[in-house]
Amino acid sequence: MRIAMIGTGYVGLVSGACFSDFGHSVVCVDKDAGKIDRLHQNIMPIYEPGLDTLVASNVKAGRLSFTTDLAEGVKDADAVFIAVGTPSRRGDGHADLSYVYAAAEEIAAALTKPAVIVTKSTVPVGTGDEVERIIARIAPDKGITVVSNPEFLREGAAIEDFKRPDRVVVGVEDEASAEVMREIYRPLSLNQAAPVLFVGRRTSELIKYAANAFLAVKITFINEIADLCEQVGADVQQVARGIGMDNRIGPKFLHAGPGYGGSCFPKDTLALMKTAADNDTPVRIVEATVQVNDARKRAMGRKVIKAMGGDVRDKKIALLGLTFKPNTDDMRDAPSISIVQALEDAGAKVHAYDPEGEEQARPLLPNVTFCTGPYEAAEGADALVIVTEWDEFRALDLKRMKTILNQPLLVDLRNIYPPQLARDAGLEIVSVGKPAQA
Ligand code: NAD
Repeated sequence: MRIAMIGTGYVGLVSGACFSDFGHSVVCVDKDAGKIDRLHQNIMPIYEPGLDTLVASNVKAGRLSFTTDLAEGVKDADAVFIAVGTPSRRGDGHADLSYVYAAAEEIAAALTKPAVIVTKSTVPVGTGDEVERIIARIAPDKGITVVSNPEFLREGAAIEDFKRPDRVVVGVEDEASAEVMREIYRPLSLNQAAPVLFVGRRTSELIKYAANAFLAVKITFINEIADLCEQVGADVQQVARGIGMDNRIGPKFLHAGPGYGGSCFPKDTLALMKTAADNDTPVRIVEATVQVNDARKRAMGRKVIKAMGGDVRDKKIALLGLTFKPNTDDMRDAPSISIVQALEDAGAKVHAYDPEGEEQARPLLPNVTFCTGPYEAAEGADALVIVTEWDEFRALDLKRMKTILNQPLLVDLRNIYPPQLARDAGLEIVSVGKPAQA
């Protein structure tokens, strides 16, 4: 299959590289000339483990190429995937579909033969219908059809998720398009039977939002249970284990922490709320989740301040991890942003270290001092706060930390240290959802 991928962000670049690795011929298109320039030199515009090797080998094999010229990229394609951003629209929280529609217009004008346009971006119900209207207006006789194929990969594990997904969801309205999609994903079923679920296009669009909203609810649920644990002397990790062993609940997404962030859950929960409200069927559980999560991020800043005795003016606080989760450089809606804000508002000086996120974090956190490692950040600090659980923070030399910290306080917002381990090293520790002397 000849595939064009519009947008070389986290989703487009990973999907394009993986499709080419399956043996398809893929052209990745981006209007950001800087990104395409870097890709031509095999410099990845994002941090994603394994991506550089995957891209390099497929470029070398002649199956993967990059261009800024959309018309050139799509002209011979059997399928054109749209993987551009769909951020929250400023002001009202609806998904901003301007990039999707602009891409659809360009694609419709550029295609020279029948093809399937596949929306991989996360888009609200009915977007496929609108893309169809755009095509009817610009290229009514080219034999172009529209399919929905939402993406479920997780940043940080994106290649593995793409190649071995729990399922692939495809929303189609005609058999010929379904056949093209079957052919594109055939290598997956050969691999290890990743089920491809064919549904209607609107259903497919809604599946993506329902999935993300459900996961956001699950995280927020355990976060609230964590708060309750702290009040009643219970341990949230044991509660999570105890409920997660029930197959109906499952153990994943039950890690209490500083609240969800990232480029998907915040914007997708908001967009789902808007779609639901527009259709007079409000999703109250999701609304509550969004409220609770928003409040939680800043509350984590207050938790640090409380652990430090309530006054942090002119105190130095060391933060480890800034990205919204490990193994990515993505800072979009990261809890660290609200935490830093709360600490700085209270007069603290924040020093931080993140293994991959510094470049994206700098413009968002202009008053933070960036450090080159965890020990440099901790030097002379009045508290050490773990915000994102990068692997390299899991086995810190806590005894060394004790000697370099000004105050021996560890606030572990990801529960990666058993409290006793920290105490054995001479540190006072505050975790999430644990009894005071766990
Ligand atoms: P991104 O912002 O990283 O990348 C989007 C890219 O599209 C940018 O490089 C931009 O320059 C390019 N672009 C925009 N308009 C273009 C046009 N007309 N022609 C060519 N290029 C164009 O976005 P992302 O994180 O990859 O997300 C893309 C979509 O996938 C979103 O809808 C998102 O919700 C969804 N999604 C993201 C993830 C994730 O983990 N990031 C997971 C699943 C789904």
